[in-house]
Amino acid sequence: MKTLGFYIDFPFCIARCAFCAFDVEGYRVRWATRYIKALEKEIEIYATLSEITGRKITSVYLGGGTPSHYPPEVLQDLLAHCQNRFNIGEDAEITLEAHPATVDKNKLSDFLKIGINRLSLGMQSFSNKQLKQLGRHHSAQEAITAFQDAREAGFLNISIDLMYGLPNESPEDWEKTLRQAITLSPEHIFYALSIEAGTLFDKKYREGKLNLCSEDTSATLYDRARKQLARADYKQYEISNFAKAGHKSRHNLRYWNQEAVLSFGVSGHSYIDGKRSVNTDKIPDYIEKLETGKLPVTEQEKILPRDAAIDHIIFGLRKTEGIPVETLSEDAIFRETRKNLEDAGLLQEESGRIQLTRKGMHFADEVGMAFL
Ligand code: SF4
Repeated sequence: MKTLGFYIDFPFCIARCAFCAFDVEGYRVRWATRYIKALEKEIEIYATLSEITGRKITSVYLGGGTPSHYPPEVLQDLLAHCQNRFNIGEDAEITLEAHPATVDKNKLSDFLKIGINRLSLGMQSFSNKQLKQLGRHHSAQEAITAFQDAREAGFLNISIDLMYGLPNESPEDWEKTLRQAITLSPEHIFYALSIEAGTLFDKKYREGKLNLCSEDTSATLYDRARKQLARADYKQYEISNFAKAGHKSRHNLRYWNQEAVLSFGVSGHSYIDGKRSVNTDKIPDYIEKLETGKLPVTEQEKILPRDAAIDHIIFGLRKTEGIPVETLSEDAIFRETRKNLEDAGLLQEESGRIQLTRKGMHFADEVGMAFL
């Protein structure tokens, strides 16, 4: 039976973080409630399509935005709405993205009871000064408490998000952050920092008001993290993702493996059987379309075989296991690109697979561009 992952987007947050480029708005109950109704309608429309209902759903990812802002009973109804219409596997990975300021032990316990079995907690940093710079509305202690509450509530699969290369961060600061993260012993750690155009970080950076780490320091922080996490039994499986045995993100692997994902909600990007579609990125437009019974899709395209092959290479190379050698052997341009990248020390062959080298991990975007 074919499989599918669901992504459900909740575009409301306490406030916009300084580094965030997502389409989010402040959480207002009336607006957020109308949005849930629209989501239900979108789910109902897809439930009339046999190409969707005939698949086994192996993962559901409630992301955003801040889905943990919603009361558990609202998310329970929404999950039931899906469960009543689709074949969601009993062993499906069901992830909730949670902002520390929106949860407490009771709420987390309720999230677990409604079937959420994986928590992705946006901790970002253990320094209050850095959290302030990031525009997060929680302290380091509140994030730690949220993690401990999740454990006490019974969550056995918790991922934490961290940011590195923050203003004035030294390798020693970053090592301390990692030590604190490892002490909590989450099953999964994601860390990254990218300055996205249009964010407050980007603006300050351009104005020279943000003293970010140099590329060299950033590379040092990245390498230290890989070593420190490996010593603590976290296996790197993607450029920015590390997991203890058996705890890779099944949902995110679907993206890197180019497997089918149906995304509900504003800005949803879906990929199913070589077809890609994109939902509107305007919340009012999304709600109004669904209130009149129309899907909020603004773009739809069939991916040409060559584009699909390039996507497969770019996303596949993000994984540490890389891609099979044969993927690059039949096409003259791919072969030449591979050779150039190997000569530059960015790619290597290992046991019949092509992988990014240590240096290549720092230049993954450039490697992707070379294939494009
Ligand atoms: S909580 Fe997440 S989605 Fe919301 S503004 Fe911050 S980074 Fe963006």
